[in-house]
Amino acid sequence: MKLLITGGTRGIGRATALGAAAMGWPVTLGYRGNRAAAQDAVAAVHAAGGQAWAHSADVGDAAQVAALFDAAEAAMGGLDGVVVNAGIVAATSALADMDTDRLERVVHTNLTGALFCAREAARRLGRGGAIVLVSSAAARLGSPGQYVDYAASKGAIDTLNIGLAKELAAAGIRVNAVRPGVIDTDIHADGGEPDRAARLGPSLPLGRAGSADEVAAAILWLLSDAASYVTGANLDVSGGR
Ligand code: NAP
Repeated sequence: MKLLITGGTRGIGRATALGAAAMGWPVTLGYRGNRAAAQDAVAAVHAAGGQAWAHSADVGDAAQVAALFDAAEAAMGGLDGVVVNAGIVAATSALADMDTDRLERVVHTNLTGALFCAREAARRLGRGGAIVLVSSAAARLGSPGQYVDYAASKGAIDTLNIGLAKELAAAGIRVNAVRPGVIDTDIHADGGEPDRAARLGPSLPLGRAGSADEVAAAILWLLSDAASYVTGANLDVSGGR
């Protein structure tokens, strides 16, 4: 499978890229601006014997998303799978204290950006293609006092999953989502809580935070032929949370 992963250079996306490479799948990795992390991710895939390319594109910019898909198709000679993964949180806060710029940035990146990427995937994938949307357990939990803006944006991803899976089924394209719980990545530092995974881990049903590799395994299964009769599913990868 020729795979494009947005936000493919760090965290869950990077782990998915390495897992895909282990399956022999070429990967194109989208990222926003951290070039060093992108180079490191590509080098890690190469070191594992895989093929990878990285391309900078802000998912909140429709023209840049189209250019990212063009670059992926050119590099890999086609496209069979897309992981709509790029997403952000902002500082933990009550809604009443969130400024307008922050609300617009979170929703624009997580929802409008995902729509731009899913639209491009819908335009370009053919029969046998697969899309995985990366939602969050926050969509179910609401994240009160932390980031209800983020949770609401992920709730919309769950709805997109339901609709797009039905819309693309006749074209032979499967669409699924994963809802990660507390996963040990850098995203928590962006929310002002770098130790969030370690702090919350013991309180979770499985007694620990999850790893990016554990989410990647679920994403890769949903993309693979092993999930050939699965579409519109939303797989919790949240340790029972
Ligand atoms: P992460 O470690 O912070 O990595 C984020 C990746 O997304 C980076 O490659 C980053 O690129 C890219 N990105 C961010 N904003 C972008 C933009 N506007 N345009 C293009 N690329 C952008 O995040 P993560 O924890 O792996 O999270 C990945 C996904 O899982 C997100 O959708 C997140 O909401 C979801 N999720 C995570 C958790 C968790 O606990 N970690 C839980 C539930 C859901 P740069 O490196 O260039 O910035």
